[in-house]
Amino acid sequence: MKQNNSDCVFCKIIAGEIPSYTVYEDDIVKAFLDISQVTPGHVLMVPKTHLPNIFAYTSEQAGEVFSRLPKVANAIKAFDSNIQGMNICINNGELAYQSVFHSHIHLIPRYTESDGFA
Ligand code: ADP
Repeated sequence: MKQNNSDCVFCKIIAGEIPSYTVYEDDIVKAFLDISQVTPGHVLMVPKTHLPNIFAYTSEQAGEVFSRLPKVANAIKAFDSNIQGMNICINNGELAYQSVFHSHIHLIPRYTESDGFA
């Protein structure tokens, strides 16, 4: 069952109440461009269920969500043949610099050693 949080920006994106540029979507996840692009094509993959962070996942939910990573990574890579790699990371919890408390995975394409990723 999907749970939504009316105060959550990513729940609003999933509901179509806030616009986003979607690169992949199915019944479990939505993947869309980050509003602040670390490198071109920086995407966030989010579960459609409101899970605040990784600590809140069941193993089943983790399996469902993380199994989508290759599909999303390849969908991004298909946009630009210059993509040489990708940083895939999670800021999990406020101390770890999480600022939106709907769990999400950053996929940050890498083009060169000096492409802007610090
Ligand atoms: P950080 O801000 O330290 O990267 P997070 O890992 O929680 O923390 O990342 C939240 C991400 O959500 C940020 O990269 C931010 O640019 C992005 N973001 C916030 N609001 C929106 C939005 N409306 N559409 C797309 N991305 C958003």
